[in-house]
Amino acid sequence: MHTRRYFLKTVVLGATASGMPGCSEPDRPLPTPAVAATPRTLARQLRGDHFETCHAVRDGQALPVAGVTASHDVVIVGGGPSGLSSAYALRDRDLLLLEKEDVFGGNCILDEWEGVRMSTGGAFYTESEQELVALFAEIGAQGRPVVGGDSLVVDGEPTTQFFADGANRLPFPQKARDDFRRSKDEILQRYRKEGTALDRLTFAEILKPYDPLLTQFWDRFGPSNWGGTTAETSAYIGAEAYLWAGGMDDARWTFPGGMAGGAQALADWLKPKLGERLQGGSAVYAIEREPKARGAIVRYMKDGAPHAVRARVVIVATPKFYAGHVVAGLPAAQLAAMKAYRYAPFPVFNVCLNRPGPEPAYDNWFLDAPFTDFIPADWILYAGKGAKERKTVLTVYHPLPVERRKELLVDPMVLDMADGVAEALERHFPGTLEKIAEIRVFRRGHPMYVSAPGRMALVATASRAFGPVLFANTDSLAGVSSFDGAWLAAQRAAREARKQLSA
Ligand SMILES: Cc1cc2nc3c(=O)[nH]c(=O)nc-3n(C[C@H](O)[C@H](O)[C@H](O)COP(=O)(O)OP(=O)(O)OC[C@H]3O[C@@H](n4cnc5c(N)ncnc54)[C@H](O)[C@@H]3O)c2cc1C
Repeated sequence: MHTRRYFLKTVVLGATASGMPGCSEPDRPLPTPAVAATPRTLARQLRGDHFETCHAVRDGQALPVAGVTASHDVVIVGGGPSGLSSAYALRDRDLLLLEKEDVFGGNCILDEWEGVRMSTGGAFYTESEQELVALFAEIGAQGRPVVGGDSLVVDGEPTTQFFADGANRLPFPQKARDDFRRSKDEILQRYRKEGTALDRLTFAEILKPYDPLLTQFWDRFGPSNWGGTTAETSAYIGAEAYLWAGGMDDARWTFPGGMAGGAQALADWLKPKLGERLQGGSAVYAIEREPKARGAIVRYMKDGAPHAVRARVVIVATPKFYAGHVVAGLPAAQLAAMKAYRYAPFPVFNVCLNRPGPEPAYDNWFLDAPFTDFIPADWILYAGKGAKERKTVLTVYHPLPVERRKELLVDPMVLDMADGVAEALERHFPGTLEKIAEIRVFRRGHPMYVSAPGRMALVATASRAFGPVLFANTDSLAGVSSFDGAWLAAQRAAREARKQLSA
């Protein structure tokens, strides 16, 4: 019999065996534990972003300084979707892209287990994100349509179409069923009538007239999609989500491996054109405007050594919480706006199964699990109708409240979360546990900004050009953190870069 205690024992053994108490090497795979190496020794791999240089900067540590060795028209800082998109938009210029990780893609990075491609972050894009759709078409990246809508799982029973006809099948009291359905029409009416004026309110406020189960649902959906519960979310963002939540109205597309497939296609498209100017393993720690020349010096660490390059224009495509630390001399109001952003910690657990597990729908939502939702990684290939004997993966989304960020630095706590994931899956779908071969954890401390009330005003101040230092990243826009936002912010920065370069 699998007990919670047994789980804890084996999983913590894994952590102890790895010898990573403080997580100083976050992407080192855990060695197979010496004891109890059964399928129930679940969490085999803990990975995450490298943060040594960034934390040194945050903590005000002095880093070594090197002389300038090269000059470029444009230096792009960050090789996530927005940095890659900036490089794409400026590919005809002399540019250098610096990414701190060895792989490109930021919050859209692939992993693969036994031939199953899986995401460690971004899941899908939508048909209404037309410019992104056009980008993928231009680079020949073949997104596939997502079949079907999402499900809301209660006691292992999935209900689809829960904001429409399916609401009547929800195992809830009649009032709650009615409210799932009618809230959609009513809140969308408010969204159309009041528009961005709703950004002053919280989503929780406009949900008050409805059954608390509705708030409970959005308190799960919000953290997974925009980093915040209803009390932390702009009513504008929450109301707008009725246009796309559940996947019924705005057709969704993605790649095997989720949006990581899109990021990888973009990086692969750029690599032969940019060669070594697409540079991984390079963590930028300072961006200094040059008082006399028009331009800036960008300082970075690579292979443990400092480097410096001069740029006529710099595009900072990292999140603003980090931009605020590295760009020297920012105006006080801009720095304050950047610091006012909040970001949610967000580990993703890829649960690798020897045989197919639950696959009721594309994205499956839970009100009572430690995680918010999971996506069967190969849904995009088989829509739940794959071969019975195949290996597969559930990509489990497990956003955390901001105040729990530090837990991600404590391996036993992360492994405990992996236990919790397995237990909740087993509770809803008995038999899942014995199919688990391993769980891979990808932890990120600040990947998703919270779409809080008042962000619209903040964004304009935080993202404005600071002379030759321009800002991209999805957090330069007011909506929900997205690949599309990353692309749009990059386009805007690239237009400004061209203007400055031709002045
Ligand atoms: C769990 C999760 C699920 C998501 N689901 C979706 C989804 O379904 N659809 C969707 O559209 N979006 C989704 N998103 C959001 C989407 O992934 C992000 O909005 C997108 O990755 C943003 O791209 P970006 O380039 O703006 O930022 P990021 O992806 O954060 O990229 C920033 C890059 O900068 C690099 N960097 C940071 N500091 C430095 C430094 N000092 N020097 C050099 N480089 C540095 C980072 O390593 C990173 O590569 C999801 C995000 C998460 C976390």
